[in-house]
Amino acid sequence: MHTIVLDRGHHGKARDERGARNGALIEEVLVREYLRHTEDRLRDLGHRPVIQSSHPGKGYTERWERADKYSPSAYVQCHINAGGGNYGLVGHDHRSTKGPELAAHIVGALHAECPELARCMTQPCHPKPHWTKRMYAVISGVRAVAVVYEPGFIDTDAHHTMWTPEGLRRVGVALADGIHSYLTAP
Ligand SMILES: [Zn+2]
Repeated sequence: MHTIVLDRGHHGKARDERGARNGALIEEVLVREYLRHTEDRLRDLGHRPVIQSSHPGKGYTERWERADKYSPSAYVQCHINAGGGNYGLVGHDHRSTKGPELAAHIVGALHAECPELARCMTQPCHPKPHWTKRMYAVISGVRAVAVVYEPGFIDTDAHHTMWTPEGLRRVGVALADGIHSYLTAP
C-alpha cells in the first residue's frame, strides 16, 4: 500500500485566489470534483490517498512539510490550466530523477482517457525566469516525488467536455491510474 498526497492547489485560500475561471467554471471547484474520483480509484487499487488543502495564511512550505510527514510515494499539486492551450501537461521538478517517470505514467493515462486533448506532455519545471516558474514554485520544496497535474484548459472550447461530471470523472481516474501505473512499474 502506498500513500499519495493529493494537494488541492487553490483550496482553502481566499475567495479571490480560487484559481482560473471561465464563466461559471471555477478551477478550485472542478479540482475538488475530479479529486473525488482520484481518491475513490486509488482506494480501489489498494492505496492510501490523502487529500490536502492549504491552511489560511500559510504558504507552500507548510504544505510540503505536512505532506512529507506521511512519507508519501507521490505528491501531486492538482490544478486546471488557463490561457486557451490545446494540451494536457504534467510538470516535475527539473532536478528530480523520479519525477519524469511519474509524470510520464500520468500523461499516458490522461492521453488514454481524454481524446479532447490534442497532445499530452511532461514538462521539467525551472525557477524564474522560465515560463514554468509557477509550477516549479508549488513543488520545489517537497521531499517526496512530486508533479503538477494540469490536465487541460478551463477556457478552451475543445476541453469543455472534460469539465462536465462525466469528464471530471475521466480526469480524476486518469490521475489515479497514472500514479498506480508508476507505482507498479517493473
Ligand atoms: Zn491552479
